[in-house]
Amino acid sequence: MRRLDRETVDRIAAGEVVTRPARVVVELVENALDAGAERVEIEVAGDGTERIRVVDDGRGMSESEAPMAVERHTTSKLPDGDLTGVDTLGFRGEALASIADVARLTLTTNDGGRRGTRVRVDGDDVSVADAGRGRGTTVEVRDLFYNRPARKESLAAPATEFEQLSERVSAYALLRPEVAVVLEHDGQRVFATPGSGDPVDAALAVYGREVARESTTLDAETTLSVDGRELAVRIRGLLAYPSVTRAASEHTRLAVNGRPVAVPSLRRAVERGYGSLLPNDRHPVAALDVSLPPEAVDQNVHPTKQTVALRAADAVASAVEDAVADALETADLRRSADVAM
Ligand code: ADP
Ligand code: MG
Repeated sequence: MRRLDRETVDRIAAGEVVTRPARVVVELVENALDAGAERVEIEVAGDGTERIRVVDDGRGMSESEAPMAVERHTTSKLPDGDLTGVDTLGFRGEALASIADVARLTLTTNDGGRRGTRVRVDGDDVSVADAGRGRGTTVEVRDLFYNRPARKESLAAPATEFEQLSERVSAYALLRPEVAVVLEHDGQRVFATPGSGDPVDAALAVYGREVARESTTLDAETTLSVDGRELAVRIRGLLAYPSVTRAASEHTRLAVNGRPVAVPSLRRAVERGYGSLLPNDRHPVAALDVSLPPEAVDQNVHPTKQTVALRAADAVASAVEDAVADALETADLRRSADVAM
């Protein structure tokens, strides 16, 4: 029996974070958003194990930062190592290192300087060179799981893997309508949102005309009183009318402070907001971002950060339910007024 060294422990943890192509895309898109990108392009070949490329126009990295980014536990996002109140999507500083452990990774970046930097990681080989590129970052990931045959074996059929990936990208596109999100698969454009800030424009791109026409936006602010302290909550996003529903609940999308997360209690709160308008066994098409003060959110509950723990979860859920019910009622009144005219 022997104690695992730190590096091995980290590599095992890496396997927990990078389990499938969709996870790679999530980490790269979150990095692009954290870098303040206004446009993020995601290109995928096959099921994503062949090639994933994410191109952003964010702030980029300098010549000295770029090689550090692919090292483990290097992050620019926790300046004082304080985990309470993180407001970026990333903070563990391990995504790029974890991806580079299980794939060949090329990072090309420029922070606005005269030339950019290219870092290639292929197994233990790391090379750094100058590269021509405007401001922003491109990360290309090839041959995912080339050194993890068992992991590759365990992936679902290519169409299913791509569907999962596309679903995750759709969530960012709908929940962050101020960012132009483009998804391409095998050279074909799947969708491109305009980045106008209007979630209905994003819904038009992701879902098409029918859903966009049958949708309304919501922007509600309330202050909750929790343990004698005030908690400001803002709920913003898109609600499709009950005339458009889906059999799968994954079309009810939620973000907390801009990060798409699965919080079942909030999803149920949205459904309660639709109330009896929702046919049995059907789920709403909705994309809502719930903003809370960062200290009301514990991001660190799951390694992939796909869920969060909320302080005063019940009160937040009621606020969501009320906001949805109010928005649908107002929209309904407006619609009947339109018809009457
Ligand atoms: P984390 O996001 O948790 O900090 P990552 O491994 O995902 O860890 O990234 C490490 C660091 O590399 C980030 O903190 C950031 O400084 C830099 N970085 C990664 N991707 C980008 C990007 N697209 N644009 C600018 N900087 C980036
Ligand atoms: Mg990250």
